[in-house]
Amino acid sequence: MSYNFVMITSKIKKEELNDFYQSKFEYFKTVSAFCAILMGLLEITYFISDCQIFGRFAIETLLPRTAIILPIIIFVYFYPRVNTYKVGVFLYYLLPHASMWCTIWAIWYLPNRDFAREGFIIMHFAFLAIGLAMPVKYHIPIHAGLILNIVISNLWTHYDYYSLMISLALPLYIGVCVMQYILESSYADQYLIKKQLEISSISDELTGTYNRYILNELIEEETERFEIDKDIVVLMIDIDFFKNVNDTYGHEAGDSILKFVATEIKSQVYGRDYVIRWGGEEFVVILVDYTVRKAEILAELLRADVEKMSNGVCPLTISVGLCRYNKNESYHDCIDKADQALYYAKEHGRNQVINYQNIAKQ
Ligand code: GH3
Ligand code: MG
Ligand code: MG
Repeated sequence: MSYNFVMITSKIKKEELNDFYQSKFEYFKTVSAFCAILMGLLEITYFISDCQIFGRFAIETLLPRTAIILPIIIFVYFYPRVNTYKVGVFLYYLLPHASMWCTIWAIWYLPNRDFAREGFIIMHFAFLAIGLAMPVKYHIPIHAGLILNIVISNLWTHYDYYSLMISLALPLYIGVCVMQYILESSYADQYLIKKQLEISSISDELTGTYNRYILNELIEEETERFEIDKDIVVLMIDIDFFKNVNDTYGHEAGDSILKFVATEIKSQVYGRDYVIRWGGEEFVVILVDYTVRKAEILAELLRADVEKMSNGVCPLTISVGLCRYNKNESYHDCIDKADQALYYAKEHGRNQVINYQNIAKQ
């Protein structure tokens, strides 16, 4: 796959942008944090060059250069506590800005301020590293703060080569922003592939329903209970005599029947419900926010529809087992009960809906 250079908004849907930026943040945050700390520590090592400029132990710049330790401590303390890019943007850019101001402070004491140029150029790399984890739309104005810092500090420092400093900083700033943009656009490709993989890992290719792995997203791992905070009713649906369909009309016709049944089920439920191809010609439907009565009506409607509607191949019926989910039980128990109800439906003539409650009473 080749790199596709287009606007982020034309690759990522508007409503997905937040998720995209969060994903970018989570992917790059460790490397960005590491570089931010490294750039902070670099500030301290400049004390050596200060000593060289002074030709002696540069006691005056010792405090400005080591003052960066405080922002580093703040960063290290908050780093594990910041989990979103929106908060991260405040914390991460703190270090290069603080580092800048430590440099500006130290330069004040230097007998030769020409070297400020080099110091400020190096700062762009800190912004580059941090920008990896941030949205470019935030990076552009925040990185511009670097140039603003130079402009403001010139009011009292009066750099000898001020205009040269700005003309060195501007192209670097633009270059870094363009680089960030290319990287963000390239990460968007990776993000889209990741999303696609996530969707295919929980989808059934033939019917376009979910497959069993969707349960990993609906079940609390430890208790194996549904995480959904609403009344749930589970349907277990099985096509009657499906083996005969395959045997008589062929496997491809069987596949088209499977698609037909899946489409029928999907057309009857709401977007918040889950239609899952459980295996072969069995579907599990998780109805969210349903009373048993409402679920029974829906299942009956579905059964009647499949029987009545033409699927273009053969006469077709389904059997349905139904069970209300009890919030104290594991999802296995509920599916097992729906399966028992389905088995009962099969044993008692097929083409019918059976509620587990009714057979449990017997
Ligand atoms: P019952 O009414 O008792 O459910 O009878 P049945 O014939 O439907 O039940 P059985 O479980 O014996 O048969 C299921 C058949 O489903 C067997 C298998 O060939 C077929 N099957 C499973 N997966 C697919 C598939 O992806 N495509 C097609 N065409 N057939 C499938
Ligand atoms: Mg069957
Ligand atoms: Mg079956």
